Amino acid sequence: MATIRASCEKCGDVQLTTADVTVRMCVSNDEGEYRFECPDCADLVVRQAEQRTIDLLLAAGVEFITWALPAELFESHSGDPISHDDLIDFHSFLANDEALATQLQALGS
Ligand SMILES: [Zn+2]
Repeated sequence: MATIRASCEKCGDVQLTTADVTVRMCVSNDEGEYRFECPDCADLVVRQAEQRTIDLLLAAGVEFITWALPAELFESHSGDPISHDDLIDFHSFLANDEALATQLQALGS
């Protein structure tokens, strides 16, 4: 198992094994990071990493996890953002059982 040298903000340089390090890569923007629990202070250390560093860590055999940005970030939106007044109106609407029932019936027909 390869030895990996990394740095903790509190403890300075620390030595890890491949089992201690995880690479996480966002498939939406190809940004990557590596993370480990510091063997001295037990803090979780997360570092942004360039592709070259990620490739070296993966070649050493560290765990590799991918993730994607939420699909909502790629939705197109139009109109003004929801305002505080809109929320108050919606709250009032939900509190009015008769108006809510009427609207729900209209949606169902
Ligand atoms: Zn530490």
